[in-house]
Amino acid sequence: MIKEELVKALNEQITAELWSSNLYLAMSFYMANKGFGGMAAWLKKQAAEEWEHANMLANWTIKRGGKPEVDKIDVVPNDFGTPLEVFKQVYEHECRVSRLIDNLVDVASAAKDKASQDFLWGFVREQVEEEETAQGIVDMIEKAGEAGLYHIDEKLGQRK
Ligand code: MG
Repeated sequence: MIKEELVKALNEQITAELWSSNLYLAMSFYMANKGFGGMAAWLKKQAAEEWEHANMLANWTIKRGGKPEVDKIDVVPNDFGTPLEVFKQVYEHECRVSRLIDNLVDVASAAKDKASQDFLWGFVREQVEEEETAQGIVDMIEKAGEAGLYHIDEKLGQRK
């Protein structure tokens, strides 16, 4: 049986994941509107991934006897600047998410909930990948400069 304080923290993370999903969807719309269809497609897949994270957290909560909830999702920004600025914001956001996940592990640890800690380590590992991927795209855009943007757009559009 899962402890109430951990259910509360998991529910807060569900809200955070849904907010992340909306953020990336807004970025996707923004980039599509600017004519960067590949980057828009990449960001839409990122949005779907965050939505899936919310579901994984909810499924875990249910499995352990807790009640997941969907709370109010705050508004997201709708203007993000240049492609470089967009992906710098993706990187910064993923670093923020990593800190939230770390805090969630701390709550599971304080609750002495080993099973939930084990489940959450998957998210900790996922964040290492997320930060690396976002940083990699920022580096790529910085190296390519203005002229290389359309090549990068094509490359990001190939995300599975
Ligand atoms: Mg996530």
